[in-house]
Amino acid sequence: MTMIYRSTRGNAEKVGSAKAIIRGIAEDKGLYVPDFIPELDEPLSELVDLSYHDIALKILPRFLSDFTEEELRDCIEKAYDAKFSATEIVPVVQAGDAWFIELYHGKTSAFKDMALSILPHLLTTALKKEKEDSTIAVLTATSGDTGKAALEGFADVPGTEIFVFFPQDGVSQIQARQMVTQEGENTHVYGINGNFDDAQTAVKRAFNDLELAKRLAGRGYRLSSANSINIGRLVPQIVYYFWAYLQLLKRGGLAPDDPVNIVVPTGNFGNILAAYYASEMGLPVKRLICASNINHVLTDFINTGIYNANRPFCVTSSPSMDILISSNLERLLYHLSGKSETEVSRLMEDLEQNGLYEVSPKIRKGLEKFRAGFADDAETLSTIKKLHDKTGYLIDPHTAVAYKVYQDYRMETGDDTPTLIASTASAYKFAESVTAALELKDASDGFAAIRQLHCATGVAVPVELETLEKKPVRHKSVIDKEEIAAVVDAVLR
Ligand SMILES: *Cc1c(COP(=O)(O)O)cnc(C)c1O
Repeated sequence: MTMIYRSTRGNAEKVGSAKAIIRGIAEDKGLYVPDFIPELDEPLSELVDLSYHDIALKILPRFLSDFTEEELRDCIEKAYDAKFSATEIVPVVQAGDAWFIELYHGKTSAFKDMALSILPHLLTTALKKEKEDSTIAVLTATSGDTGKAALEGFADVPGTEIFVFFPQDGVSQIQARQMVTQEGENTHVYGINGNFDDAQTAVKRAFNDLELAKRLAGRGYRLSSANSINIGRLVPQIVYYFWAYLQLLKRGGLAPDDPVNIVVPTGNFGNILAAYYASEMGLPVKRLICASNINHVLTDFINTGIYNANRPFCVTSSPSMDILISSNLERLLYHLSGKSETEVSRLMEDLEQNGLYEVSPKIRKGLEKFRAGFADDAETLSTIKKLHDKTGYLIDPHTAVAYKVYQDYRMETGDDTPTLIASTASAYKFAESVTAALELKDASDGFAAIRQLHCATGVAVPVELETLEKKPVRHKSVIDKEEIAAVVDAVLR
């Protein structure tokens, strides 16, 4: 069956999956959404022995119907290969009272690799299919992890240029170093004076700058996005929720069709939206639990139906979730409103004008499957320590936010449904916070913290992080957010 994508705001051409991936965002500034959410034909119990690749090959074709099975198989095999340090790609590990979906065994030690290892392959395949011969210039704003994963994914991929803009003061030392040491002739990395929302808003503005697009088109370039608004990122993220559920069927004592809860540490709402899609496809999910840090705009939204971004922005120990404008929520609003493009357009207009909107009773009703909570930094760090002391299992601050919110949820509800927690980063990527959490001696910097953490826990350090300190810095520019369009214009000559 052919899958068509339309814009959440209703004023754009309907396109197939290949075009939607190439364009990233629709021309009316809306996000592409699938026309319907497909169901899986086979009973889950028949899939338990499949590999990660095979599961991906059950899911991707349903959303990406422009691609042949051969093409998708090729993309999947190129994406999930020996770059991943775990042979099963995504280990599912029991610790405490939950199962952790370890999404961080890719090259950059965070879950963004799950989508950004495959996006460049989907994109270049889409370009061939659409007989596009422009070079794709990918623009990405990052709260830390997307940027590095996009750089790794796109580095030296023919027919692409990759630009990454990160908030100068909003990412960890390790995250920044990962980006500024990036190799590859087509990689362009800039620090931005400002926070993530500033960077993301400025990149969106560059996308909507028609003059810029025209000038670049004249030189053979087309802009696209590697942010989680691209459906080529969203769809591959559905796979691991099925995979994790199947691991519980296989060895977690779960019976077929038994429900699970899924807890996701959430920023831009991409990862949890993929879990929502999985549940709509037929994965038995009881609750989708959205976990935030002290920037808890989503907690408030899910609990009240009012989205209010007018609040101070806080830098936390889980920087990849320091977000007040959560882009992918727009897609959920679209689905829950019964595909009401007019309602979504109005809400997004309110958000842009006033930083605030309130959804209809219909959308609120649709939110019933969701629960939400937040954890502050002190709670996050003590959660890391408690779990480690009790079980020896080490989690990063983002995952700890999710685990703490889950603990609160269990306490409040007594719900003992088996629970999957999206574990989104290696603890080593945020070693300074994690050493502080474990009350180790003050480390002088992120690299010293990595060594200390290794000494104290014995957990293996990801190779890429171990060698990072000695890599030369290649990207040194820091710019103002107003300069993004000019920089892109100047580089793509
Ligand atoms: C990006 C990121 C998140 C948030 O994911 P979203 O899809 O933006 O909600 C959480 N944890 C880590 C480590 C991340 O890199």
